[in-house]
Amino acid sequence: MTIPRMEIDLAKIRRNTRRVVVLAAAAGIGVAGVTKGACGLPEVARAMLEGGAMMIADSRLENLLRLKEAGLPGPLLLLRLPGLSQVREAVELADISLNSEPAVIGALGREARRQGKTHGIILMVDVGDLREGLWPDQVLPAVDAISDLPGIELVGIGTNLACYGGVKPSRENMELLLSVREKVESLIGRPLRVVSGGNSANLSLLISGEMPPGINQLRIGEAILLGRDPLEGTPLPQMHQDTFRLLAEVIEIKEKPSRPIGETGRDAFGRIPRFEDRGIRRRAILALGRQDLAVEGLKPLEDGMEVLGASSDHLLVELSHSAKPLRVGDEVAFLLDYPALLGAMNSPYVAKALLGQGGPGESRP
Ligand SMILES: *Cc1c(COP(=O)(O)O)cnc(C)c1O
Repeated sequence: MTIPRMEIDLAKIRRNTRRVVVLAAAAGIGVAGVTKGACGLPEVARAMLEGGAMMIADSRLENLLRLKEAGLPGPLLLLRLPGLSQVREAVELADISLNSEPAVIGALGREARRQGKTHGIILMVDVGDLREGLWPDQVLPAVDAISDLPGIELVGIGTNLACYGGVKPSRENMELLLSVREKVESLIGRPLRVVSGGNSANLSLLISGEMPPGINQLRIGEAILLGRDPLEGTPLPQMHQDTFRLLAEVIEIKEKPSRPIGETGRDAFGRIPRFEDRGIRRRAILALGRQDLAVEGLKPLEDGMEVLGASSDHLLVELSHSAKPLRVGDEVAFLLDYPALLGAMNSPYVAKALLGQGGPGESRP
C-alpha cells in the first residue's frame, strides 16, 4: 500500500460521534458534525451521520461541493462567513450559513431568490473570543435590517469560542448568548429554531453539567475526529483517540552523534537549532516532512521512539535501547494532534486509506 498514508478508522469515528450525540442529547442539544479536519471526506461525513449527527458542517465551499457530489444527504451548514464573492456558491451548496455582515446576508437573500431557494442564516454573536460575530448590543439592529428580507430565513443565533482568543465556554458566556436570543425573539415575535453554542471546546461544559438549558446545537469536529478535549488536550472519556494513524516508511537507519559536526548556522527553516550532546545515538529517517504536516504534532505509537526534528521531506527519529528493532522499509505509525491532522489531510503526498467500512479502501484527496 502507498506510503506515507493516513489510515482513517470510520468505525471509530462513528462511535465517537455516537458518544458525543448521546451526551449532547441528554442536554437537549443536537450535533452538527464538522468535517473540515478531514477536508470534507464524504466517508467521514457519512460515519458522522451514521453516528447520529443531525447535519454536516464545514468551513470550505470546496468541501461542501465534495460532500454534495458524493450524494450526502443535507442539510449542509457553512461554518466560515461567506464572502461577498462566494454568495452564489454558498447558496448553491449550503442550506444554512453562519453570518455576521448584513450586506452579505442581503446578497445571500437576492441570490437565493434567483435560485428559487430560501437560505438559512445563523447570526453569529461575539461573546468574547473576538473572532467572528456581532457585538451583543449590535444584534437587534442587524436583526431588524435582515428579518424581513426575502430569500432568507433567520433560523437562529450562534457563537464560537476558544478559537482566536482561547476564551473558554462558560455558563456566563452561554447565558449571554441566551439573553440575546430572548431579545431577538421578542423583536421578531417568534421563537428561533437554533441556538448554536459553539464547538468541541463546549463539551467540557456539557460533561460537567454546566451547560444552561436553551443551547440546542453544537458544531463538533475535533472531539469526534481525535477524541480529545481541545482546551486541555486530554482524552475524552469513552472515546477513541486513534481514529487517524499516520504511517511513514523508514528510509535510513544509522548510528550518529547527537551533535552536528562543524560550524552551524540556520537550519532549512531559518531557525538556529540547539543540540545537547547525548553521545552516539541510533536514528532513523522517515519519508515524511514539513511539506506534509506540522511535525511537532506527531506522537510515535512505538515505545522508545522520539521525534528529533524534520526538514521538508525528512523526519528524524531517535531510537532508544528499548525500541523495537527497526529496519529500512519498515512502516512506523504515529498519532496526530489537530494541526498535524489538518496538514496531513491536505497533503497530496499522503494517501488516505479508509478502515472500518466493511473493507479497507484507498482514496487520494
Ligand atoms: C471549525 C469550527 C467548528 C468546529 O470546531 P472543533 O473544535 O473542530 O469542534 C465549529 N464552528 C466553527 C465556526 C468552526 O469554524
